[in-house]
Amino acid sequence: MLSIWESEHFHPQPDIVVIGGGIVGLFTALFHKRRHPDHSVVVLERGAHPIGASVKNAGFACFGSPSELLADMDKEGEDAMLARVEERWKGLLELRSELGDSRIGFEATGGHEIYPWHTKGYTAVADRFNALNDSLRPIFGEQVFVQDDEAITRFGLTGVGHLVRTRLEGPLDSGRLMSTLLRKVVAEGVLFRPLTEVTGLEETPRGVSLSTKGGQPIRTAMVAICTNGYTRELMPDLPVAPARGQVLKTFPVPGLKLRGTFHYDEGYFYFRDHAGGVLLGGGRNLDLIGETTTEEGSTELIQDALEHLLRTVILPGQPFKIERRWSGIMGMCPTKSPIIERRSERIVVAAGLGGMGVAIGIRVARRAAALLDQ
Ligand SMILES: Cc1cc2nc3c(=O)[nH]c(=O)nc-3n(C[C@H](O)[C@H](O)[C@H](O)COP(=O)(O)OP(=O)(O)OC[C@H]3O[C@@H](n4cnc5c(N)ncnc54)[C@H](O)[C@@H]3O)c2cc1C
Repeated sequence: MLSIWESEHFHPQPDIVVIGGGIVGLFTALFHKRRHPDHSVVVLERGAHPIGASVKNAGFACFGSPSELLADMDKEGEDAMLARVEERWKGLLELRSELGDSRIGFEATGGHEIYPWHTKGYTAVADRFNALNDSLRPIFGEQVFVQDDEAITRFGLTGVGHLVRTRLEGPLDSGRLMSTLLRKVVAEGVLFRPLTEVTGLEETPRGVSLSTKGGQPIRTAMVAICTNGYTRELMPDLPVAPARGQVLKTFPVPGLKLRGTFHYDEGYFYFRDHAGGVLLGGGRNLDLIGETTTEEGSTELIQDALEHLLRTVILPGQPFKIERRWSGIMGMCPTKSPIIERRSERIVVAAGLGGMGVAIGIRVARRAAALLDQ
């Protein structure tokens, strides 16, 4: 039996429950609380702290490399591509202004796309380079991408024929970002309940009842489901597929020349410097079926490909040791746009941010919070 004190202050019937304490869930809770300071807002997170993609990612504050943007333009048209870039760019600016560059560990060291020798990738980009910059200029107010092949040696890379960079991107510290955000959310009056896994929802005309693993049911008026790659566990009919991303990080490498964020091989691989070492991820394209999973873990096939890239392109001739390997689960939608919608009278879903949640998470949450009010 709960005491009166427990039930009033730690197990209240909240006005709003947000399921999932990643970047989207935390910002959704924060924005709702700001709109309705008198509402009790609770975030239920199954981990002891946020344990989803928001704390497993590579920490690229980026809006899309030239080859990705051109491929999007060919697939969906120029307007759709530009709208997506604008969303990402505005998201990054909002994130940096809401939390502060130093509190998210943002480093303005630039974003880069590199093209291996003898691939068609660069020719396709070079042919439309000026046109792409012209299209993007109204969003950024300046030329976004510049060709800078001389930087290849400066960064110590080999096997690379061409390099394109933008000064507007850079790496950040995802752990610092998330702990700053969590502190802010709690300071502004949101209750964060870790170790609370929601196992089911039942909606009635009077509210929603949430069952929790090993705990008491929680009743609330409205729910925001922000569970990204895990969303199908609660809403099996939603088209958000889990997609595992594997990452490794080397110990510090003496004299490391690499600075900034890098996309390689049409974005299938990505790497950056962090704490004097290299953080590298990708290779999902080598086993798309196997990597469509909510299970964390690493495979020999992909880890070998990552280490091969370290040896042949990123750290040629330099000894390195792997300090850590991890993985995270993304949520993928059929298009590159996330699902942000009201599923029913009392349930809003915001999920499926793909590989861009750092950039768009804050704006996805703003829209989810607005939907809770409609
Ligand atoms: C390896 C990797 C690299 C990436 N690199 C980048 C990058 O460099 N730049 C970028 O912009 N994006 C990157 N992303 C994508 C980005 O991390 C995600 O888009 C973003 O973090 C999604 O945020 P979210 O809040 O929607 O989901 P998550 O952070 O996954 O949060 C969902 C939360 O819900 C919780 N949860 C799930 N089910 C339940 C339940 N039933 N009950 C209670 N809690 C539950 C989970 O524990 C989790 O904490 C990367 C992702 C991965 C995996």
